Amino acid sequence: MIRINENYTRLKPSYLFSEIANRVAQYQSENPGADIIRLGIGDVTKSLPPACINAFHKGVDELSCDSTFKGYGPENGYAFLREKIAGEDFHKRGAPIDADEIFISDGAKCDTGNFQELFANDITIALPDPVYPVYLDTNIMAGRAGNAKNGRYENIVYLDGTMENGFIPQLPSQPVDLIYLCFPNNPTGAVITKSRLQEWVAFAKEQKALILFDAAYEAFITDETLPHSIFEIDGARQVAVEFRSYSKTAGFTGTRCAYTVVPKECVAYTESKSEILLHPFWKRRQSTKFNGVSYPVQKAAEAVYSDAGKEQVKKRINEYLLNARIICDAMDDLQFSYVGGKNSPYIWVHGKGSDSWDFFDRLLTKAQIVCTPGLGFGQCGEGYIRLSAFNSLENVQTAMDRMKKVLA
Ligand code: PLP
Repeated sequence: MIRINENYTRLKPSYLFSEIANRVAQYQSENPGADIIRLGIGDVTKSLPPACINAFHKGVDELSCDSTFKGYGPENGYAFLREKIAGEDFHKRGAPIDADEIFISDGAKCDTGNFQELFANDITIALPDPVYPVYLDTNIMAGRAGNAKNGRYENIVYLDGTMENGFIPQLPSQPVDLIYLCFPNNPTGAVITKSRLQEWVAFAKEQKALILFDAAYEAFITDETLPHSIFEIDGARQVAVEFRSYSKTAGFTGTRCAYTVVPKECVAYTESKSEILLHPFWKRRQSTKFNGVSYPVQKAAEAVYSDAGKEQVKKRINEYLLNARIICDAMDDLQFSYVGGKNSPYIWVHGKGSDSWDFFDRLLTKAQIVCTPGLGFGQCGEGYIRLSAFNSLENVQTAMDRMKKVLA
């Protein structure tokens, strides 16, 4: 008899985006002429930078000729890309990461979701709330979360984000083994300072824990005092793994390229408390279960680091950040409290007492704007919505004009 992994039955139905789609479809059918502006999505709207497109084309052309053809690529990704990453993303910021500590992949979603496979099933997981749902769901699938009671899983240590703590959670007051952090954060747009991140690294060291640091939105940091990488923090090499992605940085959401950094000193422990290096384990896991990213896509990602690529990426990020600033200005005018939007494409807005779905409905029916209800990211998201800067300048301006008219 084939038996199911019953942990899957513990997953909450992922109804957030389907419920949003249903409510929007219903509104549209009742108001066929409505010009709906979507500020709910976490997908980019601008094209790939021309430097990436050119490199992509050249990569494809190389596959058309026997002498330059490429079959299976190197397990961790091509050295030309890993060396660029080590130099540009880490050495230039004083972070000591070598090219052979970098694993090229097809997404930070898969990597943040898969990394937990390396750990025992009875470890304790610390998760921020609100949170990018992949961290929680993959631990539920693995059987680590336990049963849901009053909307929370009994074996998860939740790190509550609130307006009071600026959505930068406090250190847990109990022992934990695996800690998920994401800065700049999705969904809140909150960022962390070096000194606060240093506290997390010290905590992880003291606990013999590991931090999984998701830096998928690092490219949106404009405040030069903020860390782009956890490896800018002393001591992080022993206790942290970092995830990066070209999705939001350079518009690769449909093209797919990302990477994970596993330093060679980074350890976990056996039951008898001896240290085991994680680097060879992740290498083994990836070479067994993952086939790599295609050569033309890795060439396109490499072009992000060319002079033209850097300029084109910066232009796109600045355009999204301008949208974010327009949203923040409108929230200031309307006297809504919010976090994010300064070093992030997301603005996390408090609904002045409305619950998340009421706020969503009000924006849809009064201003024809689609947002994301905060409750979809965890209990601490109730009462908030997420607005995204991934749209055109005109749409963002129109949306904010409408909001100012109907919510003033
Ligand atoms: N991490 C966070 C926090 C995200 O918001 C996202 C995408 O929305 C990802 C990872 C996934 O990135 P990728 O497109 O590389 O899978």
